[in-house]
Amino acid sequence: MTLAPDALAELVDALPGSVVRTDPEVVEKYRWDWSRDPGAGTPVAVVRPEDDEQVQVAVRWAARHRVPVVPRGAGSGLSGGSSAVDGGIVLSLERMSAVEIDTQCQVAVAEAGAFNADVKAAAAEHGLWYPPDPSSWQICSIGGNVATNAGGLCCVKYGVTTDYVLGLDVVLADGTLVRLGGKRIKDVAGLSLLKLFVGSEGTLGIVTRAILRLVPAQAPRSTLVASFPTVDAAAHAVVAVRRSLRPSMMELMDAASINAVEDYRPMGLDRSAGALLIVQCDAPGAARSEEIAAVRVACEEAGAADVFETDDPDEGEMFVEARRLAFPAVEARGALFLEDVGAPVPLLPDLLAGIASIAAAHEVEIPVVAHAGDGNTHPVIVYDPTDPAGEKRARLAFAEVMRTAIALGGTITGEHGVGRAKKAALPDQLGADVMALSHRIKAALDPDGILNPGAVL
Ligand SMILES: Cc1cc2nc3c(=O)[nH]c(=O)nc-3n(C[C@H](O)[C@H](O)[C@H](O)COP(=O)(O)OP(=O)(O)OC[C@H]3O[C@@H](n4cnc5c(N)ncnc54)[C@H](O)[C@@H]3O)c2cc1C
Repeated sequence: MTLAPDALAELVDALPGSVVRTDPEVVEKYRWDWSRDPGAGTPVAVVRPEDDEQVQVAVRWAARHRVPVVPRGAGSGLSGGSSAVDGGIVLSLERMSAVEIDTQCQVAVAEAGAFNADVKAAAAEHGLWYPPDPSSWQICSIGGNVATNAGGLCCVKYGVTTDYVLGLDVVLADGTLVRLGGKRIKDVAGLSLLKLFVGSEGTLGIVTRAILRLVPAQAPRSTLVASFPTVDAAAHAVVAVRRSLRPSMMELMDAASINAVEDYRPMGLDRSAGALLIVQCDAPGAARSEEIAAVRVACEEAGAADVFETDDPDEGEMFVEARRLAFPAVEARGALFLEDVGAPVPLLPDLLAGIASIAAAHEVEIPVVAHAGDGNTHPVIVYDPTDPAGEKRARLAFAEVMRTAIALGGTITGEHGVGRAKKAALPDQLGADVMALSHRIKAALDPDGILNPGAVL
């Protein structure tokens, strides 16, 4: 449907000030997320509401004119979830960023545009902690975290975003604002609609506010860094550790990602290692050193060549920072297809072996970092965009990595979401019946298909 000539003027009139921007240089900045999806369209406007009511006005206008609405947080997504759509609007929640802490209920009430880092900082002022910690925590919004059900480094012990969502305010496709959940720890009244919106990637409603559970500040951590001759040995160490222990972080870097980080910013990592495991334990009191000792034994039994331990938080953070640098570091090597595949933890060695075979078969470079403790890996397929044959091989490898994960009973995405990048592979994982059910839910909540069309389903 083509937008009537005066329809945009109607939106600008309804939302005066600088809420609606149509200037091409502003619009251009909102076309892509971090994945730089080449299929991203050009929206007719970017709408940056300041409150719920303005979100409702924009969505009601879009519903009336059947205009696609792409909700956007901070645009750090890695699967094209907030890629703009031709002729649509981008609804950016960036100006709704207030955070309040309720110390009595131990919750944060955060507007959708607040950054994950803002919530953590506000909680820390009261001795509280908001655990979900995507590597992008300083550049991603709570709305985006809820919409993707973001994970991160401490999920292995503390769970993912959904485990902390107690309440949501959501603007539906017809502009209705619904309040789901609240500051209650337990609440089973009615259908579990709250969780339907977590991970819905902007396809079912627009999250404007979240009530997030907080926990007491994290106990001091010890860090262990083990270097292994091979990825396989490191993966077997992960399986052994996870059989009986629950560290608060368990990250893996392979040789290619270690060297990419060292090329990008020297961090003192062992360039000769086949793989590194970076493990943290935060068990209280003496239990912490016992846990670290048990992790050391498991690593040594799996063939670790060198094991380093530290109780110094700054030294530990340096290794975690090196791990967080992996994406920008690999990004510096060429164009990328980012993977986010996962498998049940005992099958992590098989998944990593499968990825290595795919890299060899298609002659592509696939550095891997992984939230290894929860079986979630990020193989990054690097290619030269000026070499069509190389790009074709990279595309084949991308699809094959997802097929390998599915064959192992795993997933095509553990935390980044399906977005637009992985849409084609979703039916292979979910099957026809679950896809049909998903389409029925989408049709019930968004009958005209205006919310994030082209993403996920
Ligand atoms: C360097 C780097 C490291 C990363 N590490 C991790 C990691 O460890 N773990 C992890 O999970 N992710 C990680 N990510 C991916 C990304 O940061 C997360 O997916 C994050 O949750 C996206 O938040 P955002 O605010 O940037 O959302 P956007 O990119 O703007 O949007 C993401 C999706 O959410 C939807 N959306 C956004 N806001 C709303 C809203 N208010 N209501 C409804 N839908 C909305 C969008 O339509 C889109 O589908 C990383 C990204 C980068 C660049």
